[in-house]
Amino acid sequence: MVKQLSHRVKRPGRLQGDPEVEIPVAEDLATVPGVPLNPADVAFYSREYPLETQAIEKSADRQWALANQSKDFDDFREGHDERMTPMYEAALGSGDVEPTGTPVPGEDLTDDIRRLAREMGFGEVGFTRYDRRYTFAGKKRWARYEHAICLAMEQDYVKTQSGPSPDSDIARFETYEIQQELCLKLCEYLRSRGYHGQVHDGSDCSGPYIPMFVAAGLGQLGANGQLLSPHFGSRSRLMLVTTDAPVTYDEPADYGIHKFCQECQVCVNRCPGRAIPRDKVWWRGVERNKLIYDRCRPVMVKYHGCAACMIVCPIQKYGMKPVMEHYVETGEVLGKGSDNLEGFSLKGKGYFASGELPQFDREFFEFPHGREEDWLFEKFKERLKTAGVPGEAELADFANEVMEVLEKGETTFDLA
Ligand code: SF4
Ligand code: SF4
Repeated sequence: MVKQLSHRVKRPGRLQGDPEVEIPVAEDLATVPGVPLNPADVAFYSREYPLETQAIEKSADRQWALANQSKDFDDFREGHDERMTPMYEAALGSGDVEPTGTPVPGEDLTDDIRRLAREMGFGEVGFTRYDRRYTFAGKKRWARYEHAICLAMEQDYVKTQSGPSPDSDIARFETYEIQQELCLKLCEYLRSRGYHGQVHDGSDCSGPYIPMFVAAGLGQLGANGQLLSPHFGSRSRLMLVTTDAPVTYDEPADYGIHKFCQECQVCVNRCPGRAIPRDKVWWRGVERNKLIYDRCRPVMVKYHGCAACMIVCPIQKYGMKPVMEHYVETGEVLGKGSDNLEGFSLKGKGYFASGELPQFDREFFEFPHGREEDWLFEKFKERLKTAGVPGEAELADFANEVMEVLEKGETTFDLA
């Protein structure tokens, strides 16, 4: 059944120099540019309940994750950490480095930055205001500049499709390495033009970056909680460079994704942890499918970052243009119900064709929750209930454990 057309979104080609693409959006998928949001609610939650990084907010599960994660690419991971450490440090201090060049009054660097970033290999490049409403509490004093350059780097196609696997995990970390180095170079360029640049990296994020990518028109939020961008869906890693260089902001676009995801639901049906709710809710002022962390985390940790929700997404697999054209022509979701799109394997569990999912027992989903110090108190409460009030030595041990965690937290905060 051919659908009525609402509009077409024009985007640059996948690679620098490729022809522009036009993505048709069916009338029944049209909603709003970007994402439906209530600005008053976003501001309220940001002020009263600021976001915090998972490393702090969910610190209780860190040790558990290290002990339980897949070990079969430890060698690569060690090398990766070694290569990344100096680049993390450079990113952390990047906002304080002074410019080397002299700004030209009245200039606008948008086109020059976009061209350079595309030549460097970033697949999507956009400009918007750096939105402090999403900055993590511990990063608020660190984030310096008001303009955000949104940079998405495509992750290797073949390695990613093999996931969850050591190869798909390696593809993820390799992409982080490449883009971290390139973002540092982009900052050098900004300085040579007389301005500051600050790298917000992909692992130690200053907040969720997707709202800014959406505001810059680089895609829309998918049901899988990831940015669905035109050429590679969510098969990318996102970074920001913020700057005081004069730039012109891009506009958000309606690619039809907000409603398309409700038609598609492939990631909802295929998630091994059953962690993606079918329906959207209003969450901190944004209408979205809110991922259930406690059902996702164990699968991610034990199966190479999982990312089945990325791999089975038709936008990732085939690109947004063919998927949306197919929807306009047939009213159907390209690849839905096929093993080509929906099949995946989990190590030790086997292959799961479309319609089949692994089973996990209750124990699989048990892990420490919340902040490390809160988790210690939770365990202490359990101990009181089951074994009564401990002796002085045990109480002192408990106090020392809590103190150690609190001191660690202060160090993290200072670094931020
Ligand atoms: S990473 Fe895996 S477990 Fe988590 S939401 Fe995606 S598919 Fe589900
Ligand atoms: S798999 Fe379908 S529902 Fe999930 S993010 Fe991709 S397009 Fe949306």
